[in-house]
Amino acid sequence: MDFSFSEEEQLIRETTAEFLKRYLEPVADSIDTNEKIPESFLMAAGSHGIISPLIDTLYGGSKLSFMDAAIISEEIAKVDTSMATSVYYLLNTSWAYILQKYGNNFIKSKILPDIAIGKKFIGIASTEASGGSDVAAIKTSGEIKDGKIIINGEKAYISGGIEAKNNGGGHLTLVKTDKNGGHKGITMVYVPADSPGIEMYKINNMGRMGISTCIIRYNNVEIPEENIIGKVNKGFYYAMDGFNHARILVAAACNGLSDSILEKGLNYIKQRSAFGKKLEEFQGVSFKFSELKTELEMSKLLTYKAAYLADTDSNDLYIYSAMSKFKAPQIALDIVKNVMMWFGAYSYSTEAGLEKSARGIFSYLVGAEGALNIMNLIISKAFMGL
Ligand SMILES: Cc1cc2nc3c(=O)[nH]c(=O)nc-3n(C[C@H](O)[C@H](O)[C@H](O)COP(=O)(O)OP(=O)(O)OC[C@H]3O[C@@H](n4cnc5c(N)ncnc54)[C@H](O)[C@@H]3O)c2cc1C
Repeated sequence: MDFSFSEEEQLIRETTAEFLKRYLEPVADSIDTNEKIPESFLMAAGSHGIISPLIDTLYGGSKLSFMDAAIISEEIAKVDTSMATSVYYLLNTSWAYILQKYGNNFIKSKILPDIAIGKKFIGIASTEASGGSDVAAIKTSGEIKDGKIIINGEKAYISGGIEAKNNGGGHLTLVKTDKNGGHKGITMVYVPADSPGIEMYKINNMGRMGISTCIIRYNNVEIPEENIIGKVNKGFYYAMDGFNHARILVAAACNGLSDSILEKGLNYIKQRSAFGKKLEEFQGVSFKFSELKTELEMSKLLTYKAAYLADTDSNDLYIYSAMSKFKAPQIALDIVKNVMMWFGAYSYSTEAGLEKSARGIFSYLVGAEGALNIMNLIISKAFMGL
């Protein structure tokens, strides 16, 4: 067992960090307040090959590994600690990966080159207002007729709706093509956000303000059959494959954010004094630091293992990606909370730059890329055969 990164992986971390210092750091603070990731950054990240790095060179991508993608995810979240840029990145990366893996040549050639260069966005539209965890219970319908699939229904809490509409792009959308088929009656379709018949409403969120979350309503939306991903009625499996991969990048982003915030906390407790001592000299503070640092290290190792399993196409990937998604956001929130307490009253001001991280992290506790109990369900089923 070798715990070191390869030279190439180290180089990717270093060059990504340098790129982000130049292009993301100057705008990072404005992303939460302006509720927008600057297009100039997305295009620059595209030309640097890191906005959707798993895309094949055939489509203008960098064809990096999952470990590389996880490293990039960490680095992005270290810089934009609101989580918004990480979310944009990880959706674009994992769902382009699914389109590339299961889509036909026509749709791949049409969509992937623009995603690779940062021009277009791709996300997932699975959840409906009646529930997100039970994917098999979705109601949005897809009727295949005369070379088209006609979509009716409504999706909720869909990330990147406005970005796909404004920048171009769309969502891999799950629709029921066999209403009695349960999870075997679901088809995945690439639906461009500007398709006639789509209505979109932005939800007012509490965090990760730089990327929208939307209600998407489909009124007889006609999509060419070529946009169906893979086989009809197999969409559930493609979506689960996508979630298994996306969760690694979520965990990596949480770890990156944790790294950045814990370092900020360490710098603070080294210089702030109370009762004539530096805060770091109080064991109530220093022991908490060591506990959090250890938890973060555990979370990183788990996430790297999941990335390794993705790169080696392991059957155990779904278990470890669920484990990493289960742990990393909880550890991240604990780190943000404790660093806020070390900062005292200052942390409660937006100027301290900590509260936006707490708001961003919460999205991964309440549901995004699967609720925590669903991670528990996956893990317990795997080991208990329930
Ligand atoms: C910021 C944000 C962005 C999102 N972006 C997207 C997106 O881009 N695309 C998309 O499709 N969806 C998106 N979602 C939705 C997300 O996928 C759902 O929140 C998630 O699947 C959970 O669904 P739900 O919120 O309807 O909760 P529910 O499914 O109603 O679950 C509610 C609670 O019950 C628990 N629960 C449910 N079933 C069980 C069970 N069997 N055992 C134990 N506990 C259970 C859950 O853990 C949860 O705590 C986003 C959500 C958020 C918050």
